[in-house]
Amino acid sequence: MISTWNSSRSWVLRNAFLRAGDLICRQGMVRRLSFLERAQWWRREEVERWRNRSLQMLIDAAHREVPFYRSLFDERHLKVGDIKSPLDLRRLPIVTKNMLRAQYPQQTTRDTGLKTYEVSSSGSTGNNFWVTEDAETAGQYRASFMLALEWAGWQVGEPHMQTGITPARSWDRQLKDWLLCCHYVSAYELDDTSLDAALDALESKNIRHLWGYPGSLYFLARRAVQKGWNRPLKTLVTWGDNLYQHYRSTIENAFGTRVRDTYGCGEGFQIAAQCGVNSNYHLHSLDVIVEFLDDEGNAVPDGQLGNIVVTRLHPGPMPLIRYRIGDVGISGGGEQCSCGRGFELLASVQGRDTDIVVTPSGNRLIVHFFTGLIERFREINCFQVVQEEIGSMVVRVVPSKPSAVDNTVKRRLISTLQKYGATDIDITVETTDHIPTAPSGKRRFVVSKVASQTAVRPQA
Ligand SMILES: [Zn+2]
Repeated sequence: MISTWNSSRSWVLRNAFLRAGDLICRQGMVRRLSFLERAQWWRREEVERWRNRSLQMLIDAAHREVPFYRSLFDERHLKVGDIKSPLDLRRLPIVTKNMLRAQYPQQTTRDTGLKTYEVSSSGSTGNNFWVTEDAETAGQYRASFMLALEWAGWQVGEPHMQTGITPARSWDRQLKDWLLCCHYVSAYELDDTSLDAALDALESKNIRHLWGYPGSLYFLARRAVQKGWNRPLKTLVTWGDNLYQHYRSTIENAFGTRVRDTYGCGEGFQIAAQCGVNSNYHLHSLDVIVEFLDDEGNAVPDGQLGNIVVTRLHPGPMPLIRYRIGDVGISGGGEQCSCGRGFELLASVQGRDTDIVVTPSGNRLIVHFFTGLIERFREINCFQVVQEEIGSMVVRVVPSKPSAVDNTVKRRLISTLQKYGATDIDITVETTDHIPTAPSGKRRFVVSKVASQTAVRPQA
């Protein structure tokens, strides 16, 4: 009975309210979502055919209307018809934030006839990087995101709690929250009083869906365990930051269901999401082409870490073709997922290239290396590794109680890190009271100022 009521409510919300919102805002979100719901079950070849057609339309628009891309074609004596499939993309150069920033906006944008706005994505260097979007790009982004929420088991209109960084809600967001039954809480406020208030709201409003940054869900989960709060939820969805293994297990144990992680980028599009089968992520194959490349621009073999380079298939006001977003990850190769969806697989995202410490011999120490080893130390509450230069790194730790980290613990930490791979790098351990979060609200476990140059070496 309840599920029939939910389904009818969901239908009305989607077909009346969201469609009306689409008409007013010109986003086309519901239409796109309906298309994706069908297309996710297409066979792989059908997905590829549609994707190649979208790619050709993107290339045509970018060449015709965006001087930045036209000159890349001209310099290489390429014609529009030369790029028909993802493999042909390799004839074009990789586009970096710096290249786009230098010619923004006159040379890098096009007129779509819709009102545009700018979003910023802070680069690894701390310099802001601006991208122009319009309502249609937002509609595409939201449709793919809604699809991922459906994969997790949520229906439009079911009450959910979302942690985020914009608690001051604009009128349109307030309306959206009200319509979609979103209870929004700040991802910044992680003191016990705020966490308790969030747990109370989950209970009193009968909310079974909890989504947001892994870091904030992790602290909420810890508090739930501490208080003996025990009420299984239906979906747990994360985004925006690395979902470390210890985050995942703590959240899943506290709330009694699996976490489905999603992977999007600040430039306004979704890249992948977990369907729930094993640890698989499906790429949003009809939104984006993803390449995994070494620093020379060559494709890395399946199963190996590569720089993630994306081509967004929807041109929008600022086409992004072979754009290096600064993350590293591992392709799922040509594997099919047993869920039956035809979208390609992504094996894992290992975070930003600035989240990796590179040793002088070229060994890469990923964030999970540190989280996996340091979580064994009960004396340490949290930590951050900072690499200023290639030959050394500083591990800053917050002791679990005053003077818990003495010289013996420091020596034991250093020898553990050395034992598992940090062999040719000087390690200093410092204690501190507090590790600040980044301006984006994310917790950075590793901050490397040298990694972006050397994160992924060409294959020998
Ligand atoms: Zn799947």
